[in-house]
Amino acid sequence: MVIDKEMFKMDYVEKLQTMFAEDAIDASPLHQYYALGALVKDYCSKPWIESNNEYGKNRGKQVYYFSMEFLVGRLLNSNLVNLGIKDVCDKALSELGISLIEVEDIEADAGLGNGGLGRLAACFLDSMASTQVPGHGCGIRYKYGLFKQKIEGGYQVEVPDNWLKNGNAWEIRKESKSVEVKFAGDVHLEVVGGVTKVVYENYQVVRAVPYDTPIKGYHNNTVNTLRLWSAETMEEDFDFSSFSQGNYAKAGENKYSAEAISQILYPDDSYEKGKLLRLKQEYFFVSAGLQSILRNYKKKKITIKEFHKHIAVQINDTHPAVAVAELMRLLIDEENLSWDDAWYITTKTMAYTNHTIMAEALEKWPVDMFKRLLPRIYMIVEEINRRFCNEVYHRYNGDWNKVNKMSIIYDGYVRMAYLAIVGGHSVNGVAKLHTELLKHQELSDFYEFFPEKFNNQTNGITHRRWLLNSNEKLAKLITGTIGNEWIKSPNKLEKLMGFAKDSAFQEKIQNIKTNNKINFSNYVLANYGTSIDPSSIFDVHVKRMHSYKRQTLNVLHIMHLYNQLRENPNFDMVPRTFIFGAKASPSYYIAKQGIKLINTLANKINNDPIARDKIKILFMENYGVSLAEKIIPCADVSEQISTASKEASGTGNMKFMMNGAITIATLDGANVEIFDAVGKENIILFGLTAPQVIEYYKNKNYNSYDIYNSDLRVNTVLNHLINGFLETPNNEFMGLYDSLLSHNDEYFVLKDFDAYVNAHSEIDRLYRQKSIWQQMSIINIAKSGIFSSDNTIKKYAKEIWETPPVNIKL
Ligand SMILES: *Cc1c(COP(=O)(O)O)cnc(C)c1O
Repeated sequence: MVIDKEMFKMDYVEKLQTMFAEDAIDASPLHQYYALGALVKDYCSKPWIESNNEYGKNRGKQVYYFSMEFLVGRLLNSNLVNLGIKDVCDKALSELGISLIEVEDIEADAGLGNGGLGRLAACFLDSMASTQVPGHGCGIRYKYGLFKQKIEGGYQVEVPDNWLKNGNAWEIRKESKSVEVKFAGDVHLEVVGGVTKVVYENYQVVRAVPYDTPIKGYHNNTVNTLRLWSAETMEEDFDFSSFSQGNYAKAGENKYSAEAISQILYPDDSYEKGKLLRLKQEYFFVSAGLQSILRNYKKKKITIKEFHKHIAVQINDTHPAVAVAELMRLLIDEENLSWDDAWYITTKTMAYTNHTIMAEALEKWPVDMFKRLLPRIYMIVEEINRRFCNEVYHRYNGDWNKVNKMSIIYDGYVRMAYLAIVGGHSVNGVAKLHTELLKHQELSDFYEFFPEKFNNQTNGITHRRWLLNSNEKLAKLITGTIGNEWIKSPNKLEKLMGFAKDSAFQEKIQNIKTNNKINFSNYVLANYGTSIDPSSIFDVHVKRMHSYKRQTLNVLHIMHLYNQLRENPNFDMVPRTFIFGAKASPSYYIAKQGIKLINTLANKINNDPIARDKIKILFMENYGVSLAEKIIPCADVSEQISTASKEASGTGNMKFMMNGAITIATLDGANVEIFDAVGKENIILFGLTAPQVIEYYKNKNYNSYDIYNSDLRVNTVLNHLINGFLETPNNEFMGLYDSLLSHNDEYFVLKDFDAYVNAHSEIDRLYRQKSIWQQMSIINIAKSGIFSSDNTIKKYAKEIWETPPVNIKL
């Protein structure tokens, strides 16, 4: 589709008139935005229909990415770029007296995720469409995204993220595609004419209504679908007689209980064993998604026995793992297949991605609750488990210990990861190190049993959002230097290696970074009233707040730097701006103390004449996708300092690298692969390795007090947490202090302190050598192409899904 500026202007003016009966110049910014969104959606609609038609006719295979989270962010800019009409739009609007940048700013972030896991799902959507993989997203349309974070008096305060308040320009409600999802009730088997039938009655029905969002590929005609399900009451469930008698609360009971399912996104770590609503959410979108896939499939008139040849389902973490049992239910109860046929199809369809080895994040549900909420599904899980345990028992000559260790149902719980492993054909980790840890530690019994199922798929990021769109100047320089092939073939970034030592190119890279830093400083001053120095090192630590991610280590180092300055005001260091952004889960006490600590320290240091020209601390509230797009292009240093073995992959690390930041890193997650790609000269490594950490846990021979007692620097900064130095009540940071000492520093913050301090001195030393620093920066950009999610998706498509690209013609 070729759209020129004049056409665009006409279309846009007409849109404003038909939607709002307004002229361009009179329209409010909100209306300007909605008209633009509607127009861009119109431009997507023809290729969208064409894609759906092609997929409908096509006898090939489609993949559905099931995920509890999609951290999409904004879509206007990326849709304009992928359609190839960004410049046309920009010029057309400006001739109408409208600023595209200002209009873009109106869009609310679709913040339907906590962090990396949800953002990965969003990057995959972009890459599937851009590499012509027929792949769709399936999830929940939460009415509220993750909370909006405010900082008040240094504390995190959570406010609802009412992202749909002004509507959503991209989604289309597909009423006619609604399905019913059933909960609770009674199940029994009945033999009718020699055939056993399942009778399910007295259940509650929730209506699942899909909202579809087009996912437009980059400069192709592929438009895939992100289908998010909203929970609604069945009309007949509205209790009219109670309402008419004035009993509104009773009348609304069913309505609220149904709609609660798609009200909120759970903050990351707060699902303890008993969150009934969470399990409801999981079954709700999985059941709705599979029902709609099956309905579409049946339109093709292919035998149900070939389902797995046409459909692949990727289970993103354990949250959608109940899909294994739900597909079994649909195939057996609704499609009348035998258990064996259904099992064959299910295991060939399902594939599971593991995202963490942290025990507290591996979901398990109390049997009582599971059985009450999903009685038929529980029966199926029991039967899957009975058969599986039987196999294990025979393979290991009656070793009950092995059976207990691997049983899906054990000790009163249903272990969802095990269900996903047993019920699928693929189990993947998300970085090489992580996959090895799964194979040889956390899931070693399963690796021994099903070695063929295990594979690695290192995470990736869409280089279009994280470089082309968010760092336009750098993208232009790259295109001007090596041509534009890298946009479709990100590995071509490697061509920049030829310019790593080129001093003219180095200078251009530096100028762009400086320019980004100046713009960001202006933004910070205008919006936060804090002035930061663009010539200082921007040292950035943005990600969820979590003990294993060790924001605390960063903070203790800053406290130590501060102490050095207090001792010696002439202490020689390149000025640094430490930038943080992080949300803490509302119930995560230590994480919240961490946020308060950063802000307390910022207040103290930023106002201390001894330090403020050398150290600045900035805590950016409400970290999310749009803020990440602003911060990452101006980072000099990327903090990726998790306790080795704890970060499955990380994707923030990749975004920073791609924008030329130098990583200070532990050998954890994908940091290991960044190190392999750039070599030891171009990354600053420090700290314990994963095997060392694991040894300490095993031998229990780490004692954090030893370090506290022997390292005066550590001693001083820890005392400063609780002795009034920070001018807060003495117990303000007691929890943090205790976690590091009396609870023996589970994440080895003190153990890695010395190495971390040295790593930062190394950064200081390297930064002074402009040419070396820029060379490192260029090498990082040049090697970052391998982390494009285009590569990741191609590998999933080839090794797990077996979905060849489908070319959509208009
Ligand atoms: C990339 C991203 C993350 C993941 O960051 P990690 O450093 O890998 O934890 C989290 N939140 C947002 C908004 C992101 O864009």
